[in-house]
Amino acid sequence: MEKIIPSSCKVIIILLFFSFSVCSQVRMACNCESVTKGFVSQDGFANQDEIVSWVNFRFLPLFNEMAQKRHSKTPPIKGINVIPVFCVGGNGAVAKKCEKEKASLNGNPFLILYDDYFINKIEKNNALNVLFVLAHEMGHLLSNHYHNTIPVDVDYEAYLKKTVKGYKPVFISKDVETQKMTVRERHIEELTADAFAVWFLRMYYEKNKKDPNIAKKFDPDKINDVLPQIKSVFPSMFNQETTHPSCEQRTYFVKKLNDFDNWSQVSNFKKTLGGFASEFIDSTLTVLTQEEAKQMGLAVERAKEKTEGDALRIKGLDLFRKNYFEEAKVNLQASREIYTRLIFPEDSAKVTAELKEVEEILSVRSFMHFSILGNSSFANYQLKSEGQNINATNAIVGQLGLRLGRYSYDSPFGLEVDATYDLEAWQFDTYSNDRKSLERFKTSTITVQPKLTYRFLSFSKSNKIQGFVFSAGASWMKPIKFEYLNFQVPAQNLGIRLKPSWGFTVGIGFENINRKPTLNIWGLCRVAIVSSYQPLVFDISEPLPQNYSAAAWTVGLSASVGILPKFLIKRKLDN
Ligand SMILES: [Zn+2]
Repeated sequence: MEKIIPSSCKVIIILLFFSFSVCSQVRMACNCESVTKGFVSQDGFANQDEIVSWVNFRFLPLFNEMAQKRHSKTPPIKGINVIPVFCVGGNGAVAKKCEKEKASLNGNPFLILYDDYFINKIEKNNALNVLFVLAHEMGHLLSNHYHNTIPVDVDYEAYLKKTVKGYKPVFISKDVETQKMTVRERHIEELTADAFAVWFLRMYYEKNKKDPNIAKKFDPDKINDVLPQIKSVFPSMFNQETTHPSCEQRTYFVKKLNDFDNWSQVSNFKKTLGGFASEFIDSTLTVLTQEEAKQMGLAVERAKEKTEGDALRIKGLDLFRKNYFEEAKVNLQASREIYTRLIFPEDSAKVTAELKEVEEILSVRSFMHFSILGNSSFANYQLKSEGQNINATNAIVGQLGLRLGRYSYDSPFGLEVDATYDLEAWQFDTYSNDRKSLERFKTSTITVQPKLTYRFLSFSKSNKIQGFVFSAGASWMKPIKFEYLNFQVPAQNLGIRLKPSWGFTVGIGFENINRKPTLNIWGLCRVAIVSSYQPLVFDISEPLPQNYSAAAWTVGLSASVGILPKFLIKRKLDN
């Protein structure tokens, strides 16, 4: 189909005033100063003149002519600056009035800022879409909606502040003209701008319908299809329920306005220019049936409920981010309930996915995990022969190793196996009563300790469990590179070996276990005081005296931190 605009002209203009400017960054980036100084300029269409022409030479004269007919005392608007910028981003377009900066705008403070990508995209679908967006934006300007920011709904802000931990109010810089309004007032402004869009397109049609081309392209039925078409290209634009009525509500409104009777009424208004916008919408509402008007009211209520659902979701995600899973779950569930009841399937699907993530974490009952482990102990060697203690020196022993543990949220019991290796060979000497060294024992060891753990005095938050842990288990020690020196009888230096032996170990410590599988080493950590008893079993060619015994008692500190993510996760069965 031929385009309304010559094909060389890739575009046209756009929208909404508030319309598509929602976040504060966008507002800040698109402030008058940035725009007039060209900080945010974008390369526009190949033929931007066409866009300017539609706004200033086709639509605006229709409006000024109407105003003149009505003997409006307001001076006609001479022109609107239409500027491609990148700061409106995904919002498509905004309308602004830059009174202070108008000197650098040819004395004309009215602006429509648009995003080139957005315009191109919806224009490909149907050039009428672009004209609608443009006329909608003009509607905001002509209705005096050019305060510079999205309105702040005071109740909604207060609600968010109260319910969302760490919620930061919308930032509004002091040089921005603000206006506070409710969701309902805001929606009425958007419908007013839509009414303008219909008015411009329909008036253009009425004036030029003798031209079959124009009659065909501006057919009122086609005007009715514009919003759904834009939605099909940019669905996200219609997600802003706080600031805009839904696409369905707006489409309904557009259709209603285009009905023959309604159009006759609105096009034959006898009102002042200043009251045009509000009376325009009033005149539309009066021709709704009672039932329809009630539905429009319900739509506003519904939008308010939706914002509550949004707030709960924001809060839930915030808690989720902070690892408060139980609390996040409650909020996300409440949010989903609202979305489902109000039939917002997309939001419902999103929050369901988020909820699933939380439930997945909460469903973990137990898991296995590796930790890196370090011990430092004081070792006391006890050797006895024929009931007599043999003097022996003490040692400090340091070990490094791995721990494989099974951890549970449900049960206080756990299992773990530590495998450690001495950082340095330990040694001790036996000595005579006159403190003369008799023998020296030196070795490194590998120690493996399978243990049972028991958690007590623990408290659990939804994101973690902390508590004291008692552990007890066996200790198997295998000597490596054992060396023996007998200072008195060097001949005995050979032929003595230290054999692997079984002992036992106990410990008491404090443990932290996070619920969310994470690479954060503190997500799983423990510090403990540990003690062990390890018999020293020698293989000696000489017969040993009867009642000979040797053992090491150690007591020291142990610390472990998780180093590998959880695996072998066991989940709770669904009820
Ligand atoms: Zn708008």
